[in-house]
Amino acid sequence: MDLFDLYQQKRIWDAEAKADNAGRDAAHASERVATEVRRLEAKIDGLALICEALWELLRERTQLTDDDIRKKMQEIDLRDGVADGKITSVATECRKCQRKTFTRNPVCMYCGEPVTGVWR
Ligand SMILES: [Zn+2]
Repeated sequence: MDLFDLYQQKRIWDAEAKADNAGRDAAHASERVATEVRRLEAKIDGLALICEALWELLRERTQLTDDDIRKKMQEIDLRDGVADGKITSVATECRKCQRKTFTRNPVCMYCGEPVTGVWR
């Protein structure tokens, strides 16, 4: 084996080591993502349980109905101008104090004026 062959062989070993490390890094990253997904799923399950408990208590102790909550959910969903089943807060200017506020808030956090969404 001459000097050039040795050099080439070293480059091949280096490339193989690099590939092995990249594979291990990808496996670890995939593991971390899976762990984070499991944590977020558990958190969502907990939040869904709290929402259900709160809604059942409200329904039992008030005159509110499933239709009332559906209408309120639609109203809140539309505050950003898009019926997409998500709360997307959009910055808007308060019509009373002209400060920036967000459409997810029912009232301006500075002066208490009802927040008008982008659809109004
Ligand atoms: Zn205001």
